[in-house]
Amino acid sequence: MSYKPDKEFLSYCESCERETSHLLILESFQDGSDQNENVTWQNRIDLVQCQGCRDKVFRTVFYFSENFDENGKYIPEIRYYPTISVDKLNALASKNITADISKSISRMFAEVYVAYNGNCLALAATGIRAIIEYTLSEIVASNSKNKPIEEACNLGFISVPTKELLLAIHVQGSASIHREYFPEKALVKLALEEVEDMVRKFCTQEKITEQIKSKTPPRE
Ligand SMILES: [Zn+2]
Repeated sequence: MSYKPDKEFLSYCESCERETSHLLILESFQDGSDQNENVTWQNRIDLVQCQGCRDKVFRTVFYFSENFDENGKYIPEIRYYPTISVDKLNALASKNITADISKSISRMFAEVYVAYNGNCLALAATGIRAIIEYTLSEIVASNSKNKPIEEACNLGFISVPTKELLLAIHVQGSASIHREYFPEKALVKLALEEVEDMVRKFCTQEKITEQIKSKTPPRE
């Protein structure tokens, strides 16, 4: 295995306000090792460029020989400078989800984005679980807060496949809290996108239904 990062990769761009293709344009690195412990590492400072807006940002990358996934690929710790600001993420949360989203849910999304972008993946997975519980508890009757996902399905707010999906995402969060599970970034991203869709739908569907109905001519 080598510590060679991809020359082209997907990363969040603050100017484009989304994930875009980035190129590694300058790099500086130093290798290290500890013979007694039989471990190696690499400290990198890279300059990377968004292929959308062409903005450049610095990042530090730390590779460690003990930190790899099930395919044997090293999992680097990456930090970007400047980091994405909380205010920016707050604005993004409302824009990405919907203007109709409640302040508390918007705040929860913003905190999850900060955790996700800072590679705090167990924390992000836990936050996504909290968003599911909070959103569904607001929708189902107040006396059924114990199992909001099952209750939302029983009451017909979500389908059986959606229930299964939300339960899987919920368990990913629970395992992060209770079983020292640190999920892969790609899995947390999948969960986040699905939950964004769910919240967007819950917050807008009534309004959109009315908009469509009000413009459709009635039957003769
Ligand atoms: Zn960009």
